[in-house]
Amino acid sequence: MEYAGERAEHLNLRGRRKTEIMTGIERKRKMSLLRVEHLRKEYGDVTPLRDVSFEVEEGEIISIIGPSGTGKSTLLRCINQLVEPTSGRVWFDGEEITDPACRISLVRQKMGMVFQQFNLFPDRTILENVIEAPIRLLKMPEEQAAKKGMELLSAVGLADKADRYPEELSGGQQQRAAIARAVIMEPRIMLFDEPTSALDPSTISEVQIVIRNLARRGMTMLIVTHELRFAREISTRVFYMDEGGICEDGTPEQIFDHPRMENTRRFIRGIRTLSLRIDAAKSFDYPGAFSAMQKYGADNMFDRARISRMWSAFEEIVMLSLIPHLEQSGKGYPVTVAIQYAEADDELTVKICYGGDPYDPLNGGQSLAVGVIRAITSEIEYEFEDIEEMNILRIRL
Ligand code: ADP
Ligand code: MG
Repeated sequence: MEYAGERAEHLNLRGRRKTEIMTGIERKRKMSLLRVEHLRKEYGDVTPLRDVSFEVEEGEIISIIGPSGTGKSTLLRCINQLVEPTSGRVWFDGEEITDPACRISLVRQKMGMVFQQFNLFPDRTILENVIEAPIRLLKMPEEQAAKKGMELLSAVGLADKADRYPEELSGGQQQRAAIARAVIMEPRIMLFDEPTSALDPSTISEVQIVIRNLARRGMTMLIVTHELRFAREISTRVFYMDEGGICEDGTPEQIFDHPRMENTRRFIRGIRTLSLRIDAAKSFDYPGAFSAMQKYGADNMFDRARISRMWSAFEEIVMLSLIPHLEQSGKGYPVTVAIQYAEADDELTVKICYGGDPYDPLNGGQSLAVGVIRAITSEIEYEFEDIEEMNILRIRL
């Protein structure tokens, strides 16, 4: 009821003047930290967000779960305006940030964003990466920034890596540095987009610990994740996203133990992901990947033909078409492969992500391999994601 007046205003343009004359203080007092109203995003004929509305209070920790391709990343990006919503409004910290007059660069300083790919500057040390924004954007004196940067690096367990370069660190360490880089700006909210899905399984928990510590310190967070156990344990609230919006919104107990909707139930019960990561052709454990895929197939009761299609897709696309290209260009690692099986609709999808320049292995890869892939896949979609500078291939088998 608190926002009744302002809600009415969206239905009635004349009401708009009323909010405009509210003073800043009044507005702040009345508002949640974040409010999303009737958000819609269309990409051509795809509409990942139809009509999404919710509010986030200070201190809430919200995990966003749901199948791949349901608009979770799009939602985070509309919140910080990395992508422009087709319609709808977003209010943050007392300000309407979808208002064209809003200075979004200033707003973004108060929203920390951490992506799947860490996006550290490769030619700067870890400390330099962390203190770049406060020096450039907040005009913080270098010495003060360095002191604060070191404190934060200690907090994420990287004090001894301050003078190293990103490539000298493991994925988990780079991601911890990326979190320190966001936190140094003292954001009001942190947005995490699958922060652990590009990581080696052995380094996932060290990043989760850092996120958990932020939670303990009261940081407000929205976390898109496939790690359901983590989501359950860390969150005060969970959104299940599917079919164009937030289908279910509740406490972890409600969502995980008593989901109201069939889709949520299926997702919680049925989804199984196998993640593989390739850092370089020569260090990749090829036989290990083969046996992991056999085991995954067996666990999910795939028949032999399906297991062999899954392996062929991996081999033809990743090993024969993609890796030779990355080795040649020297860019684009790590390659992450997420194989996802949803039992409920018997759907097997493979999502392959890599960096470097835009490169679609189906247009430019080995032609023999391309022929094989076309024969075994039912659907394949390539996209270059500008914001994370990531190539994404989604394949349905
Ligand atoms: P999720 O993060 O839940 O996997 P996304 O938000 O990345 O989902 O994508 C939702 C849908 O929007 C997908 O069908 C995806 O292909 C499409 N999409 C995302 N970004 C773009 C874009 N820049 N251009 C066109 N389609 C996009
Ligand atoms: Mg996503």
